[in-house]
Amino acid sequence: MSRRKVAWTCSPIPVISVRSLGSSSRGNCHVVSITDEYNIMLDAGIPLKGLWKKGLAIRSIKAVFITHSHGDHSKSVEELLKLGVPCYMLSETAKELGVASNHYVKLLPEDGFVRFEGETRWIVRAFRLEHDVPCVGFYLCAGNERLVYITDTYYCRYTFKDLTHILVEANYSVDILNQRYMTSEMHSKMRKRLLHSHFSIDNAIEWLLANDLSKVKEIRLLHLSDNNSDADLFIRKVENATGKYVTVADA
Ligand SMILES: [Zn+2]
Ligand SMILES: [Zn+2]
Repeated sequence: MSRRKVAWTCSPIPVISVRSLGSSSRGNCHVVSITDEYNIMLDAGIPLKGLWKKGLAIRSIKAVFITHSHGDHSKSVEELLKLGVPCYMLSETAKELGVASNHYVKLLPEDGFVRFEGETRWIVRAFRLEHDVPCVGFYLCAGNERLVYITDTYYCRYTFKDLTHILVEANYSVDILNQRYMTSEMHSKMRKRLLHSHFSIDNAIEWLLANDLSKVKEIRLLHLSDNNSDADLFIRKVENATGKYVTVADA
């Protein structure tokens, strides 16, 4: 009896890992590894020198996705563009940063979809958030992995299915904010701005619970305010509400 030869072709199934290089008002930057050589950057709020110091090989970054124009999310955009790294952003953000005519700036399309074809196929979708300047979140799908990145918003009108990784802002606790306001440690203008531009821990939990969390491997809390948050309390609250593994990104 002759045997038939079967040629097995194995397409690599990506397993996402995320490294947070900064997550505060001093600078936000997260690197998502899709394969060993294929990394993308979510926000570029840390100067290149700082990224080098943290051991990041910039040549491994294939694309950068910028949520909005505030410096803590966009500080190294110009440096990255000089190195020829494609930076995806809203047209409003490109104008605000003064880089709209740069060849390496890629404007996010109207439907928000950016598709990458190659050995590893993956898709990024941008969606609008509610901040005090135009701002987007990003949803990334590669193989069976689905990641969502939400920061600098006081509300998110979108929910997602089959998520495996959630990076979500938990900037402040309303209780801490009110306490500091009552003791005059915080100006009313600042309090008002935070309430209308950033996610509180309770808003973050409410949004988390509106999603399908059955496949989530990790919830990472982002952009905690130095004075208006409590990392241990926030982790406990989210763990209790979701039953998931929760971490706080390195600031
Ligand atoms: Zn902002
Ligand atoms: Zn910010």
